[in-house]
Amino acid sequence: MEKKNLDWANLGFGYTVADYRYVSNYKDGKWDDGAIITDPNVVLNECAGVFQYAQTVFEGLKAYTTEDGHIVCFRPDLNAERMKSSCERLEMPVFPVERFIDAVEKVVKANEAWVPPYGSGATLYIRPYMMGTNPVIGVKPASEYQFRILVTPVGPYFKGGAKPITIRVSDFDRAAPHGTGHIKAGLNYAMSLHAIVDAHEQGYDENMYLDPGTRTYVEETGGANFIFITKDGKFVTPKSDSILPSITRRSLMVVAEKYCGMTVEHRPVKFSEVGDFAECGLCGTAAVISPVGKIVDHGKEICIPSGMDEMGPGLKKLYDTLTGIQMGRIEGPEGWVKVIA
Ligand SMILES: *Cc1c(COP(=O)(O)O)cnc(C)c1O
Repeated sequence: MEKKNLDWANLGFGYTVADYRYVSNYKDGKWDDGAIITDPNVVLNECAGVFQYAQTVFEGLKAYTTEDGHIVCFRPDLNAERMKSSCERLEMPVFPVERFIDAVEKVVKANEAWVPPYGSGATLYIRPYMMGTNPVIGVKPASEYQFRILVTPVGPYFKGGAKPITIRVSDFDRAAPHGTGHIKAGLNYAMSLHAIVDAHEQGYDENMYLDPGTRTYVEETGGANFIFITKDGKFVTPKSDSILPSITRRSLMVVAEKYCGMTVEHRPVKFSEVGDFAECGLCGTAAVISPVGKIVDHGKEICIPSGMDEMGPGLKKLYDTLTGIQMGRIEGPEGWVKVIA
């Protein structure tokens, strides 16, 4: 397989149009067989459900080239399950878990030439998504849907390594109303855009959202869960029904306990205890872990002891272990790494 002639090492985190995508349509209560196609454009009726009532959900995962030259992806079954929950919450049909995994495999195989080589720092980002496609004007769910998977080669989320970032406590809430915070949906991201633009304008990299009810507990950022390391080396991560269940975070909980011998605490985390932690980070598929050096609460600075120069030792160990499993340097738990080619 001849690879595309891209400058892999200098790719940013952006969209590059690849050769193939997967598409399946839902009509009259069932999904069609699905196919790999070449057209990157979606043409829809002006009144499609996705445009009027934002019926759309998505997922994000990556394919990697391992040290021994295989192409693998990481826990796609969990993305399939999470998309199922997202669809159920938005009255959308579920794309069956087995078919989801099969479609990921097909679209990655078709785009093998776009999978970045081992050691380049780049990966193939895989974006499954679904939307309501038929015209809907009264408030109700669409009756026809399209499920697609696009892929695009991406570089590291943070150029030049993971420098600690500064975040602020946001006055805006993260998710759209009505308890949708636990689903991966465009509407939550649309609701977060103003907070992100505003944070950047004020010189912050990201927002820390607190629970909207009492504003006393840490929830997450717009697209990543929080993880903390205590001064005595425990792994702590917030528990809340309105946090998106990050696959990276759930994997790190296992890595921390089983590979790094750390005690893991998954529990509500009060904002008032944030200053007591030794390390703080954000985790998600895109960046894996990005360290947080400073949290600003309405002008009051909380400096995390691991500082602004580099990732602290606890997070570094977790990062190296998880990426080691993903890249095939370390044997992962059963079923975590799915070999595609
Ligand atoms: C995607 C996402 C995450 C990270 O989840 P991963 O499965 O680790 O990529 C965290 N929070 C939100 C709101 C997200 O949309």
